[in-house]
Amino acid sequence: MNFDDYRGIWVYLEVKDGNIAPVSLELLGAGRQLADKRKTELAGVLIGSSVKQLASTAFTYGADVVYVYDNPIFVYYRTEPYMRALLDCCEKHKPEVLLYGATPTGKDLASAIATDLPTGLTADTTILDIEEDTGLLLASRPAFGGNIMATILCKKYRPQMATVRPKVMKALPPDPSRTGKIVEEHIELREEDMRTKVLEIVREAKKARIDEADIIVAGGKGMGSKEGFQLIHQLAEVLGGAVGASRDVVEAGWIDHHHQVGQTGVTVTPKIYFAIGISGAIQHVVGMQNSELIIAINKDPNAPIFQSCHYGIVGDAFEIVPLLIERFKEE
Ligand code: FAD
Repeated sequence: MNFDDYRGIWVYLEVKDGNIAPVSLELLGAGRQLADKRKTELAGVLIGSSVKQLASTAFTYGADVVYVYDNPIFVYYRTEPYMRALLDCCEKHKPEVLLYGATPTGKDLASAIATDLPTGLTADTTILDIEEDTGLLLASRPAFGGNIMATILCKKYRPQMATVRPKVMKALPPDPSRTGKIVEEHIELREEDMRTKVLEIVREAKKARIDEADIIVAGGKGMGSKEGFQLIHQLAEVLGGAVGASRDVVEAGWIDHHHQVGQTGVTVTPKIYFAIGISGAIQHVVGMQNSELIIAINKDPNAPIFQSCHYGIVGDAFEIVPLLIERFKEE
């Protein structure tokens, strides 16, 4: 494999509800830094139906080039056609680095591509860097249950691929004066050749997602039981926010793992983060410390969470949270 044939930092631009997904914009921010360091171009790959006009958004967020596969066959995400389009693009234009958001779609597509190309994949990356001279990608992620950070290198193959957690990288401020080059690509795909058919789309009940919510109400073991934890759900509901949890709560089976905030859970940066009955262990705090406003409620005045919050209320959650629910209901 001749590494000189492989150039450019690429981001797979996931399309969600008709727009480029926030994680892809964050990756364009991270990719821009890698591309500048490596003195190469930053490209996005857009696959979908009627998506060409989204290329301008990618340019305002830092892309130099956008490869577009615009075809009704891509109207819904399915592994097979998306994989074939992205493989086609990789074969034609040979990226040095290809990044995906660590979303259900990004993880599925990246692992499918990794089975076909002679290369590996670093999953769930939280830190990205690149060697200026060699182009070697330094993709770091928590390993061994979060006890160490592992930097994973792909020394023998190209492209180097990584999925990156949402909300970890920073999108650039959009610059509407930035433009770039659109490269329209085509691949012969026929609906009748597709093994997966979409028969019906069932939308999940509209619940705020933890990685996108402006307000998160997170509860810890201090809520006592699954029944006690219902107060967290109630407060989140009146505030129109999402429910977060500590790992101990997830391990106790009070809530699903998708709600876990922290080193081995999700990293969140909401406008307001309530930490209720959460002690403030470092593994939890690293996942929420960049929230704009952190409000902690804990009955122990010496709980470490009070070192990491903007406002702290020392008291019993079972007295304070019902008062907050009543008060916010009046708003
Ligand atoms: P506790 O530590 O038991 O704290 C409960 C708190 O509730 C206490 O501060 C107590 O004073 C307070 N309290 C009790 N009753 C009340 C009441 N009635 N009203 C108000 N306050 C009350 N943890 C995470 O959260 N996320 C992670 O991603 C994560 N990853 C980890 C990775 C590794 C490798 C390891 C070793 C640990 C990890 N942990 C993680 C676990 C972490 O170390 C803590 O054990 C965990 O965060 C503690 O959860 P907690 O605060 O809910 O429970």
